[in-house]
Amino acid sequence: MVRFEVRTDSRAGFVDITREVVGAIHESGVQAGIALVYCQHTTAGITINENADPDVVRDLEMKSSKLIERYDADFTHAEGNSDSHLKSSLFGASETLIVEAGAPMLGTWQGIYLAEFDGPRTRSVFVKVIAG
Ligand code: ZN
Repeated sequence: MVRFEVRTDSRAGFVDITREVVGAIHESGVQAGIALVYCQHTTAGITINENADPDVVRDLEMKSSKLIERYDADFTHAEGNSDSHLKSSLFGASETLIVEAGAPMLGTWQGIYLAEFDGPRTRSVFVKVIAG
């Protein structure tokens, strides 16, 4: 298993971690199998989306923040970041990738992102590669 850290620089945003994940798969030596990309955080997530046009993930951040407002009088969580927890659950804590020829089978326009919802922070990402 490979662990790497991602430093985020704003409260919410998407950091492209494709290069790190591809490196972790390469490091595993596995040519064919499954790679699980996972984070242990409750206010961040892992997602796959377009990496050709950076406006796509900017729009994801903008719209998810409009749909899930930071402050809601009905939130009860004392830490004041219920919006971050909600987004984390919606995006999910992991992605599963098919590995072929030692690389993840990503589409032409796909990238893997660490989704930050309560930064800036240093986040840890784990990549577990299983041959099969
Ligand atoms: Zn909290």
